[in-house]
Amino acid sequence: MSDKKQPVDEARKNAKHEAAMKKQKTNVDASIAAADEERGIGILLTGNGKGKTSSAFGMVIRALGYGYKVGVVQFIKGEQLSGEELYLRDQCPEVTFYQMGTGFTWDTQDRSGDIAAAKRTWEVARQLLTDNSVHLVVLDELTYMLSFDYLDEQEVLDALVQRPASQSVVVTGRGGGSSLQSIMDTVSEVKEVKHAFNKGIMARKGVDF
Ligand code: ATP
Ligand code: MG
Repeated sequence: MSDKKQPVDEARKNAKHEAAMKKQKTNVDASIAAADEERGIGILLTGNGKGKTSSAFGMVIRALGYGYKVGVVQFIKGEQLSGEELYLRDQCPEVTFYQMGTGFTWDTQDRSGDIAAAKRTWEVARQLLTDNSVHLVVLDELTYMLSFDYLDEQEVLDALVQRPASQSVVVTGRGGGSSLQSIMDTVSEVKEVKHAFNKGIMARKGVDF
């Protein structure tokens, strides 16, 4: 391509870009105008890739930035200390933070103890789901309580559906089932393309936990 041609090509590219952006803006504005329902959102973050819990805590930070009240309930977790636990417990006393604290089922190897712990933990979640002063509730790894049948699915679905209209809820964990998916407004599946662990790289403090 000769140097002389470039300004003409650039002008054509700029004009094409401007026309495409104008068209895109019309579409975006129309979509924004059509979304006129203002209420809390039900979000399910599922799939086998990394990023579900981290994404949920990203939304916790967003809510805290506006001074909203937040509740976080972690099912399964609690054996292994995590950065989010340290930060929320020490720096954010306004966040209601509760962990089931049993660790992974393959570590506890105690089904009836796990079920009792799941029910205690669900009670905390259920309370948060009735409190309209709480803007955002995170139910981390809740899906496993349903797939292991530790909690009654219908009771969980009812509590999620009947939560205050202003409240958003984020549920994380692999699976979750079609009923849970159908009552949520946003469902994202994090797909594993690859994970460092499979290359023999250890879980990293401040990144993985
Ligand atoms: P994160 O908490 O990092 O957002 P996650 O919530 O998407 O991960 P979990 O299934 O809850 O995923 O797993 C928690 C831990 O396992 C994290 O340390 C994460 O890095 C790791 N992990 C997540 N996905 C995978 C995977 N596909 N293979 C191996 N380890 C994984
Ligand atoms: Mg997780």
